[in-house]
Amino acid sequence: MNSQANVNERFANERFHKLQEKLRDRVDYVKLEPIIANLSKHKPSFFAPALTVKADEALSALPISLQDLKDAEERLERWAPVLEKLFPELEEAEGLIESPLIKLDVLSTLLEDKVPSKETFGQAYIKADHALPVAGSIKARGGIYEVLVFAETVGISAGLMEEGGSPLPLISPKGKKLLSQYKVGVGSTGNLGFSIGVMAATLGFHATVHMSQEAKEWKKERLRQHGVRVVEHEGDFASAVHAGREELKDDPKAHFVDDENSQELFLGYAVAALRLKKQLAEASIEISPKAPLLVYLPCGVGGSPGGITWGLKVVFGEAVHCFFAEPVSSPAFLLRALIDEPCTVYDYGLENRTEADGLAVAQASELVYEYVKSLVSGYYTVTDDSLYHVLAKLKDVEDIKIEPSAAAGFLGPLQLYTHQKTDVEFLKGVDLSRAHHLIWTTGGLFVPSEEYEHFYQYGKGLLRR
Ligand SMILES: *Cc1c(COP(=O)(O)O)cnc(C)c1O
Repeated sequence: MNSQANVNERFANERFHKLQEKLRDRVDYVKLEPIIANLSKHKPSFFAPALTVKADEALSALPISLQDLKDAEERLERWAPVLEKLFPELEEAEGLIESPLIKLDVLSTLLEDKVPSKETFGQAYIKADHALPVAGSIKARGGIYEVLVFAETVGISAGLMEEGGSPLPLISPKGKKLLSQYKVGVGSTGNLGFSIGVMAATLGFHATVHMSQEAKEWKKERLRQHGVRVVEHEGDFASAVHAGREELKDDPKAHFVDDENSQELFLGYAVAALRLKKQLAEASIEISPKAPLLVYLPCGVGGSPGGITWGLKVVFGEAVHCFFAEPVSSPAFLLRALIDEPCTVYDYGLENRTEADGLAVAQASELVYEYVKSLVSGYYTVTDDSLYHVLAKLKDVEDIKIEPSAAAGFLGPLQLYTHQKTDVEFLKGVDLSRAHHLIWTTGGLFVPSEEYEHFYQYGKGLLRR
């Protein structure tokens, strides 16, 4: 063995022992040991927690309800005529920022035939948020929503619009002048900053985005072109969020979009559930506990997968099961659920180093974790190479272009297939041929073509090996 392999093995052992020490006294330790072995070796892992409460019970214990979801949807409908005026690309959709539901017949091809064909394994679909207009990622849902909520608050207190009324006056010269006296800030690994920055600057706010080390140069450049102030940080996501929070904390004319702790973001993301309900109905797709919808969601701090999971559980209850996907080096949510106390991936010797910049988060949002811990059916991790592999294959087979983070959902059905018989309690009575697999692709629309070409060529190289 060469010396690098020696070092890697030593670190893997250290990680294993740390996790083992933490979990050894658990009654279910035998089940957990293979998971911590994989986690410590940066190998794909799968964890389905034993959920002890039913979805209804878990939902009714939360401070938010179906009414909040409907209110959020209604707010976006009120804003639609305004967004249509601000963003010409929304004309056809009349101001709604939405993505298509696409039938995917080639899931087993994408996964190198490691899962059975749809006749035995069920039909797959893509929820195509990689193509969401305005922000080019799933962050369009929550991020834009929170900026609109703040704009309304300012407009209402200045007497420019009424609560529940049309926000059109906010884009009049008077409205723009009002909003230009206010600041909006955010900390991000890239896509949230992009979504908030574009929306805030378009409405006239002074927008500042604190970017962590992963953020791609092109995202920063595009924001500067929109007149957004970009502050670059050497540190990780949490430190960029901290810097942004500190900068605005004593400013009464400012709003900080706190990705680690925001109910508005969560509700904005959740609206996707009501939209999906309509799309499923239009496509005559019926789901039930016997023919469940299995949803695979790339996860960073947890806001987008968490909001969507909550929304889907509110709408579909036991007919839907959601799985969160994270990089092997950044399994923040998986660890939070496994260890059952707040922690970072660094605490267990993992590095939070990944090419999936949208998922490069070391610690789960506590707010989101509390909301969804009894609703998420499972968590799994993916290697960066497997993301590039799927990214290239998806381009070749379906001509769909996504960014690496957005590929994480595709590996979910494979994990589920591998673990269904042993580790997934709720699947035991289910005939999988009736299942519907929904893969949520979360970003990619604005990736510059040279950048995409790099991703693609790297993935192609892996396919040839
Ligand atoms: C941010 C992001 C996610 C994950 O969302 P979180 O709210 O951070 O969990 C997934 N995919 C992409 C492309 C993202 O930008």
